[in-house]
Amino acid sequence: MVARKFLVRHNDASFNVDYDTDDGFEVFKFQLFSLTSVPPDEQKIVGDDDQGNRIVSDDSDLSKICDKLQLVSINEGTVSTGAKENEELLKSDEEFARMLQAEEEAFLLQQYAAGEDSELQQRLRPYLTQIDMYEDPIRQETARKTVSVEELEEKALVSLAKEGNFKPSKAEQDHAFLLQLLFWFKKTFRWVNAPPCEGCGGGTTNQGMGTPLPSEIQYGASRVELYRCNSCSRITRFPRYNDPLKLVETREGRCGEWANCFTLYCRAFGYEARLVG
Ligand SMILES: [Zn+2]
Repeated sequence: MVARKFLVRHNDASFNVDYDTDDGFEVFKFQLFSLTSVPPDEQKIVGDDDQGNRIVSDDSDLSKICDKLQLVSINEGTVSTGAKENEELLKSDEEFARMLQAEEEAFLLQQYAAGEDSELQQRLRPYLTQIDMYEDPIRQETARKTVSVEELEEKALVSLAKEGNFKPSKAEQDHAFLLQLLFWFKKTFRWVNAPPCEGCGGGTTNQGMGTPLPSEIQYGASRVELYRCNSCSRITRFPRYNDPLKLVETREGRCGEWANCFTLYCRAFGYEARLVG
């Protein structure tokens, strides 16, 4: 294999492309597709050096061609701008979705071609997944349904009135509501050290970690703590769920579960939230 670094010019932009000759020309074209959105079959790639413009094709030896390339879209030259815009507008949603899908796949292929995810990507990915969950309309709706909104709004207005504020602004009302939401959350979410026995409700003792069940992994519990009952010896599982949707239902955990679940409530009511490292 030969690792190459190409500088590819397209329109007014330049792209750095890391390429491994083992991957083949097709992968290279998909890499360019993910960077420029020019589909592989519309790509004309030419060497961009002082030896003249030589077209790069399937027959070219990618380990030897010069490292400055230029990408031309074959379509752009033939379709006038106006016609192209019309064409874009006429594209059905389905076609558009297919195009996005193709770009996504090209992006993944490029990542694959570039080798393993970088360490940074590996560290960021779980957080991105988590943030997607907070923005999910279904999770937000499920969280909102557990809250008696009118009651909290009433309490918020009462608390403002007690401070002598009878005509609160929208921002003041939002702030007071958030406080009431927090008080309510603290009352309804349970802190767990050792969970009570599922059978008799007695005290339990930690027995180490167990193997997560599919139903637990489904909600992000890759860690499951096991507790043995001090009276009846029954084992009670404590899955450490990561999916706030599940936490809305179980309403228990330690600091991680508290922060995770309340963040979903914040987003469900339109409050800004951010991850602090
Ligand atoms: Zn028990």
